Amino acid sequence: MVSSPLNDLVLTSKLVADTSGRLEKIALLAALLKRLAPNEIPIATGFLIGWPRQGKLGVGWASVAEARPAVAATTPELTLAEVDAIFTALQNARGKRSGAERQRILAELLARGTADEQSFLTALAIGEVRQGALDGVLTEAVAKAAGLPAAKVRRAVMLAGDLGTVAEAVLTEGEPALARYALQLFRPIQPMLADSAPNVGEALAALGTAVLEWKLDGARVQVHRQDDRIAIYTRSLNDVTAAVPEVVEAVRALPARELILDGEVIALMPDGRPLPFQETMRRFGRRLDVDGLRATMPVTPFFFDLLRADGEDLLDQPLVDRLARLDAIVPAAFRVPRLTTSDAADAQRFVDDALARGHEGIMAKLPAAPYAAGRRGSAWLKVKTPRTLDLVVLAAEWGSGRRKGWLSNLHLGARDSATGEFIMLGKTFKGMTDEVLAWQTKELLARQTHRDGHIVFVRAELVVEVAFNEVQRSTQYPGGVTLRFARIKGYRPDKPAAEADTIDAVRRLV
Ligand code: AMP
Repeated sequence: MVSSPLNDLVLTSKLVADTSGRLEKIALLAALLKRLAPNEIPIATGFLIGWPRQGKLGVGWASVAEARPAVAATTPELTLAEVDAIFTALQNARGKRSGAERQRILAELLARGTADEQSFLTALAIGEVRQGALDGVLTEAVAKAAGLPAAKVRRAVMLAGDLGTVAEAVLTEGEPALARYALQLFRPIQPMLADSAPNVGEALAALGTAVLEWKLDGARVQVHRQDDRIAIYTRSLNDVTAAVPEVVEAVRALPARELILDGEVIALMPDGRPLPFQETMRRFGRRLDVDGLRATMPVTPFFFDLLRADGEDLLDQPLVDRLARLDAIVPAAFRVPRLTTSDAADAQRFVDDALARGHEGIMAKLPAAPYAAGRRGSAWLKVKTPRTLDLVVLAAEWGSGRRKGWLSNLHLGARDSATGEFIMLGKTFKGMTDEVLAWQTKELLARQTHRDGHIVFVRAELVVEVAFNEVQRSTQYPGGVTLRFARIKGYRPDKPAAEADTIDAVRRLV
């Protein structure tokens, strides 16, 4: 029997997880949404996709384990609004004793939950429920519950940047609510995001013909203009118009009455080379001497997309068409240099040139793709300059296929300078020649401490130079970070493990 909306949600979420059919999942979620009161809808959507609307709650494994009571309530009584308010209190706990305070709040909450609710709420609080796949299913469920086409709801969510608000609006007001989520001047939308590729060759393989552009390491801006009114927004949608008057002037000079432009603002040296990202960001600081900073460190806008021009919404047009419009309005000096090609050699020359000029890498974009706000999809791929770290081999796994009989997949660790221990960052079997495989198998076996299944653990002694493209946050690895596209460049027999790169150095690269 269902007697509280929280319990209803928890049981539905369990059913959805146990169901493999997409349509069934959608039906279960749509039915749940219809049973909720309007104010519960945004809370519920957040809970279902594992992102409470407060965002991260700052609760860790340890405090959850401490807070979880030995007994559970037998009758469900918690409401969604109550849990929502308690999450806000959790997040507001600050200061010296905030850890203990969080634990107390959490313990009080859990003590009132049934066993199922306790499991759900603890998982939710530490961010374990988060499953990206459910976003799409839930969007369709909202559409089904509201009796609207999924595509229309999806687009509204993209423009609102939040499923919860759109869900509440369409479930209470129906189709007319959608009008609120049209692209509008002076209401910035989430910028389109990029996935990554290890190199330009793979980006071309994925995209076929691609629009290649310099990837500038500056600040993302979205500029809205209507006649003389101009506003500049950051990636997090803050209004920074006053901080960068030279961008306002550049946009004011463009031959259009209405515009929404997407681009990157960056501080350049007199010779045109980019200043480091931190320097550009000084122009967006809290307290600013705008005129003084402008004089010593002017910034330049480089636009790479056009979302609206003179009354016309361009989001659904293919990139090439948006770029043609952009080129007609924005002079080359304020556009990101680009090359459209399918030729690997031409593409590599473009990359080399961008890097030689001091830029971070390139973006490779699918010419046919519409503008997908807020989404990290494969229509835009970033290719950054590879970097390297000297890491320590902590363990290795026996290989298969061509690598059978060799220790190949290496567990890599960075040094924790506080403890002298090594913290695992990830694994890789890429980049090894047969000679390296043979050598490392012998050397690692000589350092074996113990085994666990196909994993051979070793004394942390061997240092290896690892190339990678990016450091990413990770919930999988103990240091909270991992390397994207890691591959072995070679062993560093000259370097002792005590001189390997530190976890702090790695975290600074996030
Ligand atoms: P990342 O922040 O590493 O995920 O890379 C995406 C960011 O690169 C975007 O948010 C922009 O701020 C920036 N960027 C620089 N150049 C370009 C470009 N030509 N096209 C799109 N984004 C770019």
